[in-house]
Amino acid sequence: MTEIATASPASKAKRPVIEVRNPADGRVVGTVADESAQVVAAKVAQLRAAQPEWEAIGPKGRAEWLRKLQDWIFDHAETISDVLQSETSKPRVDATIEAPFVADLIGYYARHAPTFLADEHPAPHSPLGKVKKLTTIYRPYQVVGVITPWNFPFAMPGIDVVPALAAGAAVLLKPSEVTPLGGELLVRGWQEIGAPPVLALATGRGETGAAVVANVDYVQFTGSTRTGRVIAKACAERLIPYSLELGGKDPALVLADADLDRAAYGVAFGGLLNAGQVCVSVERVYVEAPVYDEFVAKLTKHVGELRQGADDRGYRYDVGALANAAQRDVVQRHVDEAVAGGARAVVGGKPTGVGTFFQPTVLVDVDQSMSCIREETFGPTLPIIKVADEEEAIRLANDSVYGLSATVWTGDRSRGERVARRLEVGAVNINDAAANLFSFALPMGGWKESGLGARWGGPNGVRKYCRVQAITAPRVPTQTKELIWFPYNKNKVKFAMSVMRAASARGLRRFGISL
Ligand code: NDP
Repeated sequence: MTEIATASPASKAKRPVIEVRNPADGRVVGTVADESAQVVAAKVAQLRAAQPEWEAIGPKGRAEWLRKLQDWIFDHAETISDVLQSETSKPRVDATIEAPFVADLIGYYARHAPTFLADEHPAPHSPLGKVKKLTTIYRPYQVVGVITPWNFPFAMPGIDVVPALAAGAAVLLKPSEVTPLGGELLVRGWQEIGAPPVLALATGRGETGAAVVANVDYVQFTGSTRTGRVIAKACAERLIPYSLELGGKDPALVLADADLDRAAYGVAFGGLLNAGQVCVSVERVYVEAPVYDEFVAKLTKHVGELRQGADDRGYRYDVGALANAAQRDVVQRHVDEAVAGGARAVVGGKPTGVGTFFQPTVLVDVDQSMSCIREETFGPTLPIIKVADEEEAIRLANDSVYGLSATVWTGDRSRGERVARRLEVGAVNINDAAANLFSFALPMGGWKESGLGARWGGPNGVRKYCRVQAITAPRVPTQTKELIWFPYNKNKVKFAMSVMRAASARGLRRFGISL
């Protein structure tokens, strides 16, 4: 951390900033403020003041602003990619998908939020209820805190900020201190289109994130399971709701009847996209014995041909850098511990020696007890285990504290679905990887230690940011008193009971006759 003079001419005091560095070469590409708890509290107060008007313009009014943001994103797609590459050194293609991904999500919620948030009039549970008009309405939490990790600096903020805004909440975004520039751009876009001041940025470290949790009304967190636990405790203390998208250790199950070429290409992409820094990346591979050798040969050849380097605007490389040195060290430890335990790196296995790059790696002779199988790696490694059959593949896939997603590779789709229904994970992609991420009508949420709650999933994607309110109103002219109001009277109650019995009991019991 360095010190710079405060932006306020009224004060000579210094305030800290955080330097953002390109992991390929260490150069400083930007700075953001390390904001204090007081600054965060003040921002939440401003958002809280602006939120009622945002709620009042309704989902259609909000959709108009979201569509303007979508235009802004398409108009600035190249700049966004440049900024993302500057703070991550990811390949141009990995950087390029983030902006259209968020824009696509905006289109989905702009189109559907008015329907998803419309009042509902459920049928009464009993004929007696027909005298009432029943209404369920969705009213947003006032201020939602969105806390995001470093792997997709524009997409991760976007995918949670957009539905929260569509729901009518104001949003305070706290991006990772490692890659805050993408989130900063999203907020700048919102300001540049002249939208109401219901989206703000809080930059800083973990303490800034903790201050967000201490002030908002709902927390949407994406990050490690360790931090997720800390946040869950803090939210429980304040009795505020939260949703956690946490780590994963996603298995790929390659069955003997699979198209092995597609499985090899798909597992490589699923495991090495964004240098493996994807929550749903393939982190361990179980292959049925009859096709093990052939699959490993195909995967090894393909991974060995991948190109790695600092891409800039070149579209020349497939695999980029890791977010920081700490992340590279985790990957190195997992590979070293596997090799020390008898595994072999048939391709890769080492840092490249430049920045934080780590070679795309395939590990064989791995066993289920190794750290590369049990702990989240979040890097470009594909450890492979040979299994006797489908049963063993399912048993080992489920043998994890995590349960985010999985892939199943088979020539028989019904077999794939049968296997999917036995996996203890929040999503399964058959013969594909990460496909569920692009299906906004489906929920995306982890089981076990991979999370609580889910994002997307059609109506639930926006309703999660709402409190549900029930309203009853008379459908028929009312009398001065209801039958069971005071003063109590035996005959009135007997009559009321017999009406309730007639409405809800079965057979002769309706008439007070027990057999
Ligand atoms: P962290 O959990 O370290 O940090 C996530 C965010 O939380 C950062 O913005 C961080 O700030 C902030 N934070 C840290 N401490 C606190 C605190 N006490 N209170 C509030 N906020 C806090 O995760 P990483 O950034 O290291 O991200 C990698 C992890 O994210 C991986 O485990 C991965 O699996 C998971 N992930 C999950 C996804 C999913 O959808 N399930 C998607 C992507 C990643 P700062 O960075 O400034 O410390």
